[in-house]
Amino acid sequence: MAEYTTRLLIIGSGPAGYTAGIYAARSGLKPILVAGPQVGGQLTITTEVENFPGFPVPVYGSELMNNMRQQAENVGVIIHEDIITELDVSSRPFALCSENGNCYKADAVIIATGASARWLGLESEAKFRGFGVSGCATCDGFFYRNKEVAVIGGGNTAVDEAIYLTNFAAKVTLIHRRDSLRADRALQERLFSNPKINVVWNSVVTEFLGSEEPLGLTGLKLKNIKTDEISELSVSGAFIAIGHHPNSDLFKGILELDDEGYIKTRPDSCATNIDGIFAAGDIKDPQFRQAVIAAGSGCMASLEAEKYLAGLKK
Ligand code: FAD
Ligand code: NAP
Repeated sequence: MAEYTTRLLIIGSGPAGYTAGIYAARSGLKPILVAGPQVGGQLTITTEVENFPGFPVPVYGSELMNNMRQQAENVGVIIHEDIITELDVSSRPFALCSENGNCYKADAVIIATGASARWLGLESEAKFRGFGVSGCATCDGFFYRNKEVAVIGGGNTAVDEAIYLTNFAAKVTLIHRRDSLRADRALQERLFSNPKINVVWNSVVTEFLGSEEPLGLTGLKLKNIKTDEISELSVSGAFIAIGHHPNSDLFKGILELDDEGYIKTRPDSCATNIDGIFAAGDIKDPQFRQAVIAAGSGCMASLEAEKYLAGLKK
């Protein structure tokens, strides 16, 4: 148990948190970054990342995040492997507590706690995650050129992803648990008019099937929930698109959140409704959820925090 006083505390070690740290450290703020339950963030659970600029050949997500961490440490970010459990904004400096029992006093805070893809929760899903099961078509769709894939879900993300995947895949099967989609009408029209897409209605995945060596998805076991009929679908990729949830439980009742729990920030800014508290990355981004955007908004939050802290000094 220890007490720390810092000008800037950053919560989260994904692309947003590390980038915020790099900018803040280079401007002399000596920020403390609390890395959280998933050191390196969401990219550590994927395999190759092909769309983060600066890498002429694909880079493993874990390697990219290790590099970001090293860069952050090299410029002076102090990293604590711990989880923030409380934020008190009722007095200044802000007071935070952590799972390891540490207390932090910070003049400004950047929240970069990200968002998590929702998963179906099947054991076989966890087994093939990164080996055919993905939570991100924009990230992994490219690997399924001329292959057959499935998308699970019936909202805008699922329909968007199914359409996007037809750029690569030979055939896309959308599997939805009901007999109508939640997605916008315009997207639905594009989906139904695409000859590469087939929809399987009233069905849920009961098991992800695959090979052991090499580990890889080969198909899905499906159950029609109206008829109880069991069938198998042969696919090499399955994209789970049943929604995301922002990691914002800690901030409920403290910061303004939107209906889905994303932290609200001012237009073209990372400033929240509380002066001195900033939000960056997926935690404030229900729309794009891409690493390069998270990194960009980490930079933005850091520059805004610097300006805020300079104002406090005066
Ligand atoms: P995250 O990466 O989610 O990091 C959040 C951080 O907050 C974590 O370090 C976590 O430990 C920390 N945290 C959470 N709660 C606490 C707490 N209470 N205290 C302290 N810390 C906390 N995007 C791309 O651009 N290209 C890709 O190829 C790509 N592939 C992807 C593959 C998969 C499987 C997934 C799930 C996502 C992928 N994405 C990809 C999306 C990308 O990972 C995210 O957009 C990006 O990681 C968001 O960065 P972030 O810093 O906002 O949050
Ligand atoms: P969403 O709208 O919550 O849809 C989730 C879908 O997954 C629903 O169809 C739901 O089925 C299904 N689902 C949920 N849990 C499931 C489970 N356990 N098993 C099987 N299916 C399950 O989430 P989203 O599509 O990610 O969209 C999130 C937000 O981002 C929305 O506001 C959306 O409009 C927005 N968005 C917009 C665009 C766009 O405008 N182009 C693109 C992407 C996202 P039910 O329908 O039966 O509930």
